[in-house]
Amino acid sequence: MTEALDLIFRDATLPGRAGTVDVGVSGRRIAAIEPRIEADAPEIALHGRLAIAGFVDSHIHLDKACLLGRCGHVHGGLAAAIRAVSAMKQSFTEEDVHARGAQVLDRAIAKGTTRMRTHVEVDPRVGLRGFEAVKALKRDYAWALDLSICVFPQEGLTNDPGTEELLVAALNGGADVLGGCPYTDTAPHDQIERLFALAERFDVDLDFHLDFDLDPSWTHLDEVCRRTERHRYHGRVTVGHVTKMSACAPETFARTAQRLSEAGIAVTALPATDLYLMGRDHTHNIPRGVTPVHRLAREGIACSIATNNVLNPFTPFGDASLLRMANLYANVAQVEPEAFDLCFDLVTSAPARLMNLTDYGIAPGHPADIVVLDAGSPAAALAEIAEPILGFKNGRQTFAHAPAQIFRPR
Ligand SMILES: [Zn+2]
Repeated sequence: MTEALDLIFRDATLPGRAGTVDVGVSGRRIAAIEPRIEADAPEIALHGRLAIAGFVDSHIHLDKACLLGRCGHVHGGLAAAIRAVSAMKQSFTEEDVHARGAQVLDRAIAKGTTRMRTHVEVDPRVGLRGFEAVKALKRDYAWALDLSICVFPQEGLTNDPGTEELLVAALNGGADVLGGCPYTDTAPHDQIERLFALAERFDVDLDFHLDFDLDPSWTHLDEVCRRTERHRYHGRVTVGHVTKMSACAPETFARTAQRLSEAGIAVTALPATDLYLMGRDHTHNIPRGVTPVHRLAREGIACSIATNNVLNPFTPFGDASLLRMANLYANVAQVEPEAFDLCFDLVTSAPARLMNLTDYGIAPGHPADIVVLDAGSPAAALAEIAEPILGFKNGRQTFAHAPAQIFRPR
């Protein structure tokens, strides 16, 4: 060892690597990974438990989380949820958004998340208040997770005067990614065109809410594919929901997967919201409405499973646990145990790839982000929703969970 170590994790199992290893940390970085590190430094014995670089939540809405008790609306589907939040967000203050976002971030940290992309609504009703609050959260929580901010027009762009100017102001003010929502726009293709132009101007990636219904007879995906190719944006565009793909026949699914692959477009499934909002017009035999992203991932398409909404009209559930979300997905998508590892990837390394994060993963030189799960493998962690026991961000401990105690009768 040439470098002095500050901490050694002993006998860790790492995803995709046989046997156990020691992981040495120096300052904020991982310095060494070896079967046995001989050095004098404080140690944490993992006894073969799984260590990962943390979960990566590629799609969550911090600005409209934790609104439940405030809305009293009828839970009737997507349009009703958008209307309910639209009415509420006029009264959002920066303090309010910050407090609700912080509540979710505290939970996400304790569930092992170390990287996150949050969508933030920007329009004349909320102005830049949500964006400013999330910017403050990014700064205030940098000790525990890297927060990437994706601003987007939830209620339309071309039909909502003033929205584009606000998006430009947010992009000038430090937004990292540009989002879209063509299905609420009166001119969806024009929105897609405007957003590609803006993304190119600011050199940011794009992340669309797209094709969020179960009618396979029409799609906005074709236009996003065309624009991605025209702007040479391969590897920089993500589409979320795309629930239409769960409703199309196998031949159409295969053809669409081929298109996505050629255009280099990534896909995010949002199981909690998709399950809650899709199929509302069915009285029985209700479709699941979750696109099988593990099958797209097998075709080499960058995919992720993400949280989306927490305790609001879009999804009145949520604990910000990505491992629980991956488990929910696997259950709903009837994933066989052989593909549990793949589903685990969809909340760790796959979203890191989708977000173009180049320093994710437990590897020498990377940030010392280490989350230990009470399981011996990714597949076991997924099947059992293993408890995250402890976590580090940039070499500093961020959380710990005490093991449960069982009190047997004498
Ligand atoms: Zn969303």
